Amino acid sequence: MILREIVQRTVEEYDFKRLHIATIGSHSALNIFKGAKDEGFSTLCICERGRERVYQRFPLVDRYILLDDLTQLLDEDIQQRLLSLNSVIIPHGSFNAYIGSERIEESFKLPIFGNRALLTWESHREMQDKWLKLAGVPVPKTYSSPDEIDTLTITKFPRAKGGRGYFLANNRRVYERKAAEMLKKGLISEEDLKEPQIQEYITGAPVYLHYFYSPLNNRLEFLGADRRYESNVDGLSRIPAADQLESGVDATYTVIGNFMVVLRESLLSQVYDLGEKVLEASRRIAPPGLIGPFCLETVCTENLKLIVFEISCRIVAGCNVAIGYSPYTYLLYGEPMYMGRRIAREIKNGFQQDKIGMLVT
Ligand code: AMP
Ligand code: AMP
Repeated sequence: MILREIVQRTVEEYDFKRLHIATIGSHSALNIFKGAKDEGFSTLCICERGRERVYQRFPLVDRYILLDDLTQLLDEDIQQRLLSLNSVIIPHGSFNAYIGSERIEESFKLPIFGNRALLTWESHREMQDKWLKLAGVPVPKTYSSPDEIDTLTITKFPRAKGGRGYFLANNRRVYERKAAEMLKKGLISEEDLKEPQIQEYITGAPVYLHYFYSPLNNRLEFLGADRRYESNVDGLSRIPAADQLESGVDATYTVIGNFMVVLRESLLSQVYDLGEKVLEASRRIAPPGLIGPFCLETVCTENLKLIVFEISCRIVAGCNVAIGYSPYTYLLYGEPMYMGRRIAREIKNGFQQDKIGMLVT
């Protein structure tokens, strides 16, 4: 297990002028690199060989570390190179998806902006449920087995790549049929089916809320919101109902992009209330709690109630809709501000105020 004190000492010994903001080349890397550049930092892209060609099309990356396999990030020589480049790592969705939070907690020595213990809370459904319940925010009912299904449910799988293989079922029989179909289509594996996450399906409008908690200012900021564009579910409405019934297509939820959402203004008090509650609970489950970006994934019902069905403890790809600014960051900052830049700004302030240790784990 990597001790926080050691990471803090590492970052405090960094040469601020030679600092690199580093992340894996995928997910929200462009957002992070642009933010770092806007705040005057050098950037480092840790990239699967071949994928650097996309990043080379933008004037954002100063250095690359090319890997054949992203798990090589944990190799001693790679870690030493990152340390010698005074790198602060910004985690995003690919860290959990391709490397795994447990391995990061155990053996990744680099300073991570954020709370690495919470990345593990994010990776386990039961831990997320415990956290959200402790926070006292409204959540969908969960089912521990398909036998218990008594209403419309959505079944998801850990490590799902952008919602691939999710399905709806309103009883056990339908559950089994759909699970078998998803297996046959290769969208899920036998292994996935051992750990299904079955949740009550909340009918309403999905909205993903992007927050930033600044430990330096002790302030929770709401920076924006998005909704996902998912294949094939978002295309189903283009098929007339009669044809849908005849073709028997099932909804799937593979995310292919995002749209910006501006919320009805009267929802904002709930937005801040949910964020504050989740932040407060995070301090109890994994001190010092959330640092920097996090996201609550919600469905807003017709009664204007936001139900939280998931939490992410790092920048989410939905923030990419607001590179430049969102209405909320414009209101707060009056200058271009977005998650990647907000992260870099906090790191810069952390160094300038001699408080960088507060921001890393
Ligand atoms: P990729 O860069 O497409 O290989 O994605 C890296 C990881 O981030 C995968 O686990 C994806 O499912 C996830 N991801 C990428 N883009 C999005 C998005 N817009 N919304 C949600 N998850 C995403
Ligand atoms: P996720 O991968 O958990 O972010 O979910 C992907 C998609 O499934 C999103 O479009 C959500 O709208 C939908 N979804 C997930 N959980 C629920 C739920 N409990 N009720 C309704 N929709 C959900």
